Amino acid sequence: MTILSNFDFHCHTKASDGGFTPSEIVERAYQRGLNYLAITDHDLVAGVAEAMATAAHYNELLAQGSEQAPEENYVYANAQINKVENGILERSAQERLLTIIPGIEFSTTWRNEQIHIVGLFIDIENKELNELTAHKKELRLARAIAMGRKLEALGFERPYERCVEQAQAGANITRGNYARLIYQDGKANSIDEAFHKYLRRGQKAYVPNDWGPISEVVAAIKSAGGIAVLAHPRRYKISNFRLRTLIEEFISCGGEAMEVASCQQKPNDKLYLAELCQRYNLLASLGSDFHNEGLFRNLGQNLDLPENLPVVWSAPCAQRFGLNQDIKQRLIHITYQKSLSAE
Ligand code: AMP
Ligand code: MN
Ligand code: MN
Ligand code: MN
Repeated sequence: MTILSNFDFHCHTKASDGGFTPSEIVERAYQRGLNYLAITDHDLVAGVAEAMATAAHYNELLAQGSEQAPEENYVYANAQINKVENGILERSAQERLLTIIPGIEFSTTWRNEQIHIVGLFIDIENKELNELTAHKKELRLARAIAMGRKLEALGFERPYERCVEQAQAGANITRGNYARLIYQDGKANSIDEAFHKYLRRGQKAYVPNDWGPISEVVAAIKSAGGIAVLAHPRRYKISNFRLRTLIEEFISCGGEAMEVASCQQKPNDKLYLAELCQRYNLLASLGSDFHNEGLFRNLGQNLDLPENLPVVWSAPCAQRFGLNQDIKQRLIHITYQKSLSAE
């Protein structure tokens, strides 16, 4: 059984290392029954405006009852649906409207670890924010070119240029883009293997980098009117003690929220993060970190939050997007074809 949430506050587009354009992501969001989706590309906000424009267009089509409005079909890696609880496929047009939350996922370096900080409900025109994304773009460009050179020396053809061609104009090229290229070229059997063979620290195409401090990105997110969220805390290879130190420093920089629910997360990890949220008075966020078609991650997938946690959309800055603590997350249960045991 798959649990689907109508909120998802973390995903990527072709403006960084996602496999779909912002418009394609938005279309998928309607198909999967989302009502609130944050676009959070790596170190830039270039995909947000297109996503908002597309959602405005589709919301209009829904309001008009147009046949061109996107369908709600809970697409899941081409799997057939066996059962949907709650009879949810018959929602009215009004219940299917989608709000795009402007967001970003910043990379930072903390004690030799790459720590990701998501910013939500941000003003994408903000000067401080745009100065920081311009600076991060320079860091990313230099590293992407250096990684491309290394891959070229290893026999890959025009790696940097081909990553640029596959992404949107002006995109930030990350290791995620290169992983896909390595996989497409048949040099690894999966994206994960591409990381293990080439891109992880110590591997041949790895280029060390310093993304800058947590305090810098939290300050930029706050000056853009948003809230800073510690992304996927369980994905860092650090001890529980170190994670608590990280959280304490994040809070001392002005951080106010933490992702508690992600796809592929173990139930125990979710409970532990919920406990930390309560201990540190952080608001709980949720996000699939969706990049590409696959069995394990999808928009809204398995993003149920433990009950009675203060949620990120109760923050005052969420009100501009029609959100507040009284708005409840809607969860539905879907059973797909048995052949896809990965759900
Ligand atoms: P970068 O910020 O350039 O170091 O790239 C980080 C991105 O690479 C992450 O956001 C993920 O999308 C992707 N990534 C990192 N590690 C892995 C992994 N083991 N398997 C698949 N994708 C990964
Ligand atoms: Mn990524
Ligand atoms: Mn991340
Ligand atoms: Mn991400």
